[in-house]
Amino acid sequence: MIITEKRSRKQIFNSLKGNKTVFLIGCAQCATVCKTGGEDQVDEMESDLRKEGLKITGKAILDPACHLVKVKQLFHKNKETFKQTDAVLVLACGDGAQVIKDGTKAERVLPALETLFLGEVERAGHFTQKCILCGDCIIDRTGTICSLTVCSKGLLNGPCGGSKNEKCEVDKEKDCGWILIYKSLKESGDLDNMRKIYKPLDYSKQLKPQKIIL
Ligand code: SF4
Ligand code: SF4
Repeated sequence: MIITEKRSRKQIFNSLKGNKTVFLIGCAQCATVCKTGGEDQVDEMESDLRKEGLKITGKAILDPACHLVKVKQLFHKNKETFKQTDAVLVLACGDGAQVIKDGTKAERVLPALETLFLGEVERAGHFTQKCILCGDCIIDRTGTICSLTVCSKGLLNGPCGGSKNEKCEVDKEKDCGWILIYKSLKESGDLDNMRKIYKPLDYSKQLKPQKIIL
């Protein structure tokens, strides 16, 4: 899931300076789980913007906001409204905001959230990064734990040697990622993997922008 957090109201109001009318769009998926762009947060934003003297021309929760076809459907249903809208404020991830720009052709589409990482929902309000989307997955060799994400230095070949009492030398509150990998490999009887040196990842897979056509 894409983890997001709310931008400060001050930052949002500043980005909206000079605009009088705003259309709000949230996301029924990731941003709803993060409580950053679901129905309640869109309603709160509407009320706060009204207090700032802005007129809300409309609001919608897309399922999801990053789906171009759904954005285009919303646009076609609200063509006249969008003509009377100075800015679209998006309570979804940066991907969603850009898809909304593509699908609505609105001149000004602004993010209301910070997009942080791809992560696990441990429980309500607790999220942990699990993957940095490298495109050349190694977790078959590292006990199904991503060293690029769990190790503070993102080491492909670890540990670095600085760990003390199983904690990371960069952040002493954090378990050393490579010790977690060691334990996982030991449990599955794959400790031999710790002795292998892995070649650099194929970073050509990270050339941007990536595109897949199935
Ligand atoms: S190695 Fe890590 S960053 Fe790369 S795809 Fe696998 S989980 Fe994601
Ligand atoms: S102590 Fe462990 S987690 Fe921290 S940087 Fe070194 S190998 Fe990575």
